[in-house]
Amino acid sequence: MKVLVINCGSSSFKYQLIDMATEAALCSGLVERIGESMGNLVYKAAPGTDHEKKVAKEQPFPNHTAGMQAVMALLVDPEVGVITSLDEINAVGHRIVQGAEKFQAACVVTDAVKAGIEEVAPLAPLHNPAHLQGIEVAQKLLPNAPSVVVFDTEFHATMPPKAFLYAVPYELYKENSVRRYGFHGTSHRFVAEAAATFLNKPHDSFNVITCHLGNGCSLAAVENGKCVDTSMGMTPLAGVMMGTRSGDIDPAILGYLAKHKNMTSAQLDDMLNKKSGLKGICGMNDMRDIHTARESGDEKAQLAFEMFCYSIRKCIGAYFAVLGRVDALVFTAGIGENDDLLREEVCKYLGSFGISILPEVNHKRSGDIRSLSPKDARVPVLVVPTNEELAIARATQSVLSK
Ligand code: AMP
Repeated sequence: MKVLVINCGSSSFKYQLIDMATEAALCSGLVERIGESMGNLVYKAAPGTDHEKKVAKEQPFPNHTAGMQAVMALLVDPEVGVITSLDEINAVGHRIVQGAEKFQAACVVTDAVKAGIEEVAPLAPLHNPAHLQGIEVAQKLLPNAPSVVVFDTEFHATMPPKAFLYAVPYELYKENSVRRYGFHGTSHRFVAEAAATFLNKPHDSFNVITCHLGNGCSLAAVENGKCVDTSMGMTPLAGVMMGTRSGDIDPAILGYLAKHKNMTSAQLDDMLNKKSGLKGICGMNDMRDIHTARESGDEKAQLAFEMFCYSIRKCIGAYFAVLGRVDALVFTAGIGENDDLLREEVCKYLGSFGISILPEVNHKRSGDIRSLSPKDARVPVLVVPTNEELAIARATQSVLSK
């Protein structure tokens, strides 16, 4: 079975074609700046292997359909193609950011499912309408391949009310759907299960704290294989400090700024989502740039790094209190997988929780799942490379086999 995984944004989409027999990506890439005067397309056949072939194109893509048509042409291209006919694509798996309480599991797309995704779109106004566009395009261009939707919020659906409710008037939950939903669920589930397998523990009795630290950052407390709490909230703005997002702040700051700086809700939203986090403190949001700046004595970059690590450490401490027993601590995503200094700084003060890491193992670069801790560590610290596309493809296959 071959599954095309699509992650559609409002003016871009990422894609990957996965062969489920080997779980290898046959190709991957993205199309960006859709609808602008000039767009760009990246296509990689056999990505990450010795025989990778890359195509990069600059051309206008007036809409998502045009972008997808260009990708389809490359998929069957005699030079760089990975299939001979589009009929070889058996299914399409779509990443959907917000499923709210309506969708607690992946499902096959029907008209009712599309209407449901639209109904919850006010909770993810930038994402859900774009995902719907992706579904329409896939259905038009690949009419014989069923589409399956996999929700970012799904893994967090097991949180109990004490964890997902905010201490605001209860009607806001009932009437306006105000609650914590959590995001990055596909990644948290993938790394939690991979960690249990790696440690030879049954998934359903495994307690783990997963730290997804990339452009967006979130942590999850997983008890007996099920999510019981997570740091992102009703939107992906909440929780720990991120690249450009503030994470949690005192909510009264908003009213204060509205009153004293005449800021509108759109300006506040823009500031908290795009001009805060690491970027708000030091002007940079890529951790690699921050390290370069720190090393040359940039004090703001050092402060941003310390604040970031501190915010994650506090959340890990909170989840030790939530879980009681923790079988592993997992780092994943761009920063979690690659940044040894961050892992060292976060773990440094967690010795009393049974956390310790071996510096020589932590500093070694690798793309494999690995433990950073001594063999007898009470709580092993693992690096688990995430693979959201593969998780979506697996979910797609599983839904269709039912
Ligand atoms: P992701 O959203 O998972 O793709 O993560 C992207 C982020 O990972 C980038 O913005 C960088 O901050 C971070 N990142 C990637 N590679 C490294 C690295 N070698 N060291 C530190 N941070 C990294």
